[in-house]
Formats: sequence, C-alpha cells, structure tokens
Amino acid sequence: MTQVYNFSSGPAMLPAEVLRRAQSELCDWQGLGTSVMEISHRGKEFIQVAEEAEKDFRFLLQIPSNYKVLFCHGGGRGQFAGVPLNLLGDKTSADYVDGGYWASSAVKEAHKYCTPNVIDAKVTVDGLRALKPMSEWQVSEDSAYLHYCPNETIDGIATHETPDFGDKVVVADFSSSILSHSLDISRFGVIYAGAQKNIGPAGLTLVIVREDLLGKAHKACPSILDYTVLNENDSMFNTPPTFAWYLSGLVFKWLKEQGGVEVMDKINREKASLLYGVIDKSDFYRNDVAPANRSRMNVPFQLADSALDKLFLEESFAAGLHALKGHRVVGGMRASIYNAMPLEGVKVLTNFMIDFERRHG
Ligand code: PMP
Repeated sequence: MTQVYNFSSGPAMLPAEVLRRAQSELCDWQGLGTSVMEISHRGKEFIQVAEEAEKDFRFLLQIPSNYKVLFCHGGGRGQFAGVPLNLLGDKTSADYVDGGYWASSAVKEAHKYCTPNVIDAKVTVDGLRALKPMSEWQVSEDSAYLHYCPNETIDGIATHETPDFGDKVVVADFSSSILSHSLDISRFGVIYAGAQKNIGPAGLTLVIVREDLLGKAHKACPSILDYTVLNENDSMFNTPPTFAWYLSGLVFKWLKEQGGVEVMDKINREKASLLYGVIDKSDFYRNDVAPANRSRMNVPFQLADSALDKLFLEESFAAGLHALKGHRVVGGMRASIYNAMPLEGVKVLTNFMIDFERRHG
C-alpha cells in the first residue's frame, strides 16, 4: 500500500506512534477490560490521565505557575464568545487585530458582546500579502484586551513576532500553531487553541489563562465557558471530552520524546523552507505571502494554470498525498504541515510537485 501523507488543515494528521499506542490499548485500557472512553471522568484512573496531560502540556510550553490550563469544549469558535464574556469586565470595547479569516470571524462574534476596535493589519508589500508589524498596531487605551490570531490557517499568513503591549491584556488564538514553537507565555493574558490541528482530536479546546483575569465573567456567561467555573472544577464542571483529553495526553508524551517544542520548531522551519523553496523556484507554482509573514503550518499555493488544479489533486491523491485542496474561500492548494507531518512527507510532496511540473509545465 502507498504510504499516505495527510495534509488536512484540521482535523489533521496525528503522529502514527500515538495512533498505534491508542489502538493497542483501545479495548483493554490499563488492564481494566474496557476502553478509556467508557470510564468515569471522576474515577482515579481518568483523573491520573487528566493530570498527567496537564503536567506534560505545562512542561512543553513552560507555562508559569500563575497561569491556569483549562480543558474545554466548544472549539476555537466557542472562545470567540468565551473571551469577551470572560474578559470584558466593566469595559465595553476590545481591540481586535484583523489579519485574516479567523481573526475577522472572532470580530463578528465579539460584536454580540462589545464594540470591537478593529485594527486592520492586512497590507500589500511588493505585490505580496503581508501584515503590519506589531509596533504599528494602534491599541486603544480603554479596551479590555487586544485579540489577534498569530497563524491564519486559511490565508497562510502569520505574525512571528512576540507581543509586547505593556499592561494591555493580550489574547491570542493559537488554534493552528500551538506547540509548533516555544512561547513566552508571560506576554499573554489568554491563549486558546482548538485541539484538532496540533494537539489531538477535535472536541477539546485548551485555554491558558493568567489567574488574575479570573472572576470577571459576565453574569450571562454560560457556565461551560466561564473560566472561573472551569478552573474551580478542574475542567470537569460538565463531562469533558475524555477520549480527546487522553489522546492529547499521548501526543504530549510523543512531543516530549521528540525533544519538545524547540526541536519541533527546527523541523517545522525545515519543512516550510523546503516547500516554499520549491514554490519560489518555479513559475508553475505561486505563493503570494511576503516571506516574513509566511505561515510555517499552512502553506497555500496556486498553480499558474488553474485548469490543472483537478489533475493535480487527482494525481497527488493517487500518490498518497491527501487533502491538498485549498480552502473554498481561497482556492488552489494548501498543504498543512503541523508537528505530526514528518519531514519525509514534505519531501514526498515536493518531489511530486517537481515531477508534476516536469510533466505538465
Ligand atoms: N481559529 C483558527 C485559527 C482556526 O484555524 C479555526 C478552525 N480551523 C478556528 C479558530 C475555529 O475552530 P473550531 O472549528 O474549533 O471552532
């Protein structure tokens, strides 16, 4: 059978070792004669899984002790509501940096709860899509927080800067880049990420929140989105997505075995530079993002002749290279190359691209 490499943007591929381990213990977990899906989240066995996952996640990102980690439901979009509901306090506005599709989706949701001050960060540099540097983001004085999305999954655009906005509470949607590099957590008030790209299966959302920001939720905030309620109940106010939590824990152990996020960062840069290198060297493929703002996780590219798109997708799929179709709002192709995608997968992709160009260019 052809080796399959899955370039899906999310739910995305998981490390093969993790899937094999989950498979081996699926029907008889820890000798209990049942799967981990079928036991109480309040029993000592699952509590151990939950605690270990949090410990490993904290270790991987070096999360300081004044930050809480919450294991939530509701995905990234849930947090588009959760953030204003938890952080506005008595303020009525918040700064929202618009760098792409997901940041602007967060703005739409925020409108239900406050007046977002939208900072349009999208610029064109030498005909290429780029983002304004953080130093040019006009933060307003009376805003409750500043929200941005460091890696835009659909647009393939990213800011690689570390925020430094003094006392302003910085909130970041790391759904598509969490754990892909190290982070100075202390620069953030809240970080959130849906699990289905770089953490584990869909259904789980991680929130990292600085503890002084707890206790401010709007009275109409649903309890399952309320950071304080979740924290007081060890993320078990209601039944958590236990299987996703367990599997994410296995991914964290795998990441530790690989050498942690610094090692992943190195490999991720290597994968991205290999792929962008092949795109840049040819007139057959094109990526229109300025090099400084290129995503290392999601690489959109177009074929010069879009009439070949269908054939490219058919042939790549037959070669074991799956899910390369670009998002419907952008078109073309997109290769998502999260932590679980090995360098070898990107090599197979670039070799395929070079060969496809030779045959059809
Ligand atoms: N933010 C980003 C950066 C995303 O990529 C996505 C999903 N692709 C979301 C938010 C929305 O996540 P969910 O579907 O989990 O609500």
